[in-house]
Amino acid sequence: MIRLLLLTVILALAPIEAPEPELIPIEAKMSFYCSPCNICCPGSSGLTASGIIPIAGVTVSNDVLPFGTKIYRGEEPPWIVQDRFGGNNPIERFDVFVGSGPEAHQRALEMGRQTWTVFVESK
Ligand SMILES: [Zn+2]
Repeated sequence: MIRLLLLTVILALAPIEAPEPELIPIEAKMSFYCSPCNICCPGSSGLTASGIIPIAGVTVSNDVLPFGTKIYRGEEPPWIVQDRFGGNNPIERFDVFVGSGPEAHQRALEMGRQTWTVFVESK
């Protein structure tokens, strides 16, 4: 009897089907930044708008998508929206954090501006 009750509780709590995150393709206008940097972002504390320390290869800025949104590009681990431009940029504008210091600044310059197809996780 207790076993049946437990089974009933477990079935009642189990989601009927887990929603798959949908991936939406976007022609992304990419730029690249380092931080803290007096050239890329004068006056910046070095923290992201979400309050965390940015992580090279993970942190990306976007003004529309919620913090935590994953941005997929091919086989590589996703970027995660953790920062803002702070200027009402459209959803397709992304700024990728590449690191700190002169080497990172140089890398950001060399990457320039690019248009890439990325896949945005919809929540
Ligand atoms: Zn810089």
